[in-house]
Amino acid sequence: MTDAEQHEAPRPARLVLVGPQGSGKGTQAERIAERFRIAAISTGDVFRQNIKDETDLGRQVKSIIDAGDLVSDALTFEVVRDRLTQPDAATGFLLDGFPRNLGQLGLLDTYLDEREAPLTAVLELGVPRAVSMDRLMRRAFEQGRTDDTEEAIANRLSIYERETAPILEVYRDHGLVDSIDGVGSLDEVTERIFSALAARGIVPAAV
Ligand code: AMP
Repeated sequence: MTDAEQHEAPRPARLVLVGPQGSGKGTQAERIAERFRIAAISTGDVFRQNIKDETDLGRQVKSIIDAGDLVSDALTFEVVRDRLTQPDAATGFLLDGFPRNLGQLGLLDTYLDEREAPLTAVLELGVPRAVSMDRLMRRAFEQGRTDDTEEAIANRLSIYERETAPILEVYRDHGLVDSIDGVGSLDEVTERIFSALAARGIVPAAV
């Protein structure tokens, strides 16, 4: 690293994490958010919390989520936009599980363009289908999530391949994608993510 590079201000962490369910996204999202002190925004978590609290939103989305289908783009984006305007998302954010299709990608792009705060990287966490299926079945057993039935899991993985994978093509065209091998220990995968971000000049701000 040259002197000039060392003194350059780090680039903000405005990140999207993409990967099939069972890729370990949730855990990695927490680690990234902690390191960069940014908000980790998981649309799935927000929906689950609302279902638990029996809010209007929760009642609206419960059967959709239990079937493993996608909640409407408009409703999902409302959740994300609300969250992005909260103070802890001002310096950066990590979106986990959003955008999930091209429609949501368009909504997010327009919104971030208006704020003049575009994404700085998209992390693609890759694991073979057999590995994610296996991890999801194990989680179903351990956590008893109501959408972790074998049928709903298979549905979610198909939706991922059909609707979510194409967003990576768009982000790739914008030079934003880092593909991370998601097979390995949690620490190994975290290290791969941090190095990929560092290579883009995205490092934690000095305290
Ligand atoms: P996740 O925890 O990301 O696996 O999300 C659990 C469920 O919440 C998904 O299977 C969908 O039913 C719903 N969900 C989460 N994020 C989105 C999104 N971006 N768009 C539509 N539905 C979503």
